Amino acid sequence: MAAKLIDGKAFAASVRERVGEHVSRLVKEHGIQPGLAVVLVGENPASEVYVRSKGKATKEAGMKSVEHKLDEKTSEADLLSLIDELNRDETIHGILVQLPVPDHIDAEKVLAAIDPAKDVDGFHISNVGLLGTGQKSMVPCTPLGCLMMLRDHHGSLSGMEAVVIGRSNIVGKPMAQLLLKDSCTVTIAHSRTKDLPGVVRRADIVVAAVGRPNMVTADWIKPGTTVIDVGINRIEKEGGGTRLVGDVDFDDVSKVAGAITPVPGGVGPMTIACLLANTVTACCRANGLAEPE
Ligand code: NDP
Repeated sequence: MAAKLIDGKAFAASVRERVGEHVSRLVKEHGIQPGLAVVLVGENPASEVYVRSKGKATKEAGMKSVEHKLDEKTSEADLLSLIDELNRDETIHGILVQLPVPDHIDAEKVLAAIDPAKDVDGFHISNVGLLGTGQKSMVPCTPLGCLMMLRDHHGSLSGMEAVVIGRSNIVGKPMAQLLLKDSCTVTIAHSRTKDLPGVVRRADIVVAAVGRPNMVTADWIKPGTTVIDVGINRIEKEGGGTRLVGDVDFDDVSKVAGAITPVPGGVGPMTIACLLANTVTACCRANGLAEPE
């Protein structure tokens, strides 16, 4: 393997440690404990795993963790009234509604109901607009985690050619905005992009957020490129069972890339670390205190 491994798990552990230190200072010096409320509607097994690990990480960082598990049949009105209650709760600084929500609930309406100052997922239209105009906002956790790893690896990203594959509101678009803010030349590719391998070959930085197992192969990658793999795909293993893979063919791409994140152990752990960091940031802003860097 030629590529340097970007160890998201180790990096996330260091971010979580810093968050924990900040939380202890807030408690000791100001008597304030940051609080995160996670709301889950229905019984999606993957969502349940995410919510559990978010709750565990929140408590480990010394924060208050509240979980609201609502029945699949919960009405939109009841969900909105819970959000309203959490918006007004001064002990809660971050609110996250785990997506997807059941079909009878309008996800956009739910996201719009969250107080933007408590929107630690950064999906509220106000935060999207602030990010798009380069202003201080809550930044979506997954792209923020990718950016932190890129900055850590490269220092400045200024002038680099970045290709983001995927244009979702939760990963691709905010990722592109963050890279643009860091002065990359950014291309957003998607399912209608012509000659995707050719577009990706221009990149110094590739962020793959597609949801197609092992799609990006070595012949798409310019030697030395940094590859961030956001994809989480469960595939059948030879001989039975399943395993997680990314959108990037790790073994193949590692031969030519300059640096690469693994799946699992790359972007995933950074996403949770950034959620904790965003909650502390929201808490500091709510109390007029200095934010963590
Ligand atoms: P979406 O399904 O919302 O978006 C996928 C994007 O990929 C779309 O923009 C789509 O294009 C594009 N796409 C689909 N097929 C192709 C193709 N053949 N060539 C080029 N582009 C294509 O997914 P998300 O953004 O929510 O998630 C992407 C992946 O990241 C998933 O595997 C998800 O599980 C993972 N993920 C991981 C997280 C983590 O913490 N590590 C957090 C969030 C997501 P179009 O718009 O044209 O349809």
